[in-house]
Amino acid sequence: MNSACGECGVCAVHAETAAQHDVAWQNDRWILRHHPAPAPLAGWFLLDTRRHAASAADLNANEEAEFAGVLAASMRAIRTVVGVPRVYVVMFGEGAHHLHAHLIARDPTRNDTTAWKVADLYRMVERGEMQGADPAQVARIAAGVGEMMRVTLSV
Ligand SMILES: [Zn+2]
Repeated sequence: MNSACGECGVCAVHAETAAQHDVAWQNDRWILRHHPAPAPLAGWFLLDTRRHAASAADLNANEEAEFAGVLAASMRAIRTVVGVPRVYVVMFGEGAHHLHAHLIARDPTRNDTTAWKVADLYRMVERGEMQGADPAQVARIAAGVGEMMRVTLSV
């Protein structure tokens, strides 16, 4: 069901190498990758379905059975590796044919990332009004999250 025609930007990202996109972990159904540069925050990940399934309501039985475990493991890994007490989950379902949960490390030392303020930060970085996260730090975090995911999920 994945598009090979190049019309879907997420399929195009999935077809490229893991290192190019700071992919932390993946299996046949899911990809956990860091937000592309410029990333609003170091520790802002995306959990994507590999195939086109626009929302959790569109998951097949295998994906549905796996979703909660992969989501929880991703959140624990991000929380531990980034060293934050909380990870936000946001799923709008706009702009891509893939379920893509934004998993956002909540840094308690930054008041500009509290709840919906994180959306303001997102737009500021998107518009170039604020610098994105350091790519080297992003790569380190993605590697650490991937290591923890592989240990936790034994794959
Ligand atoms: Zn796609």
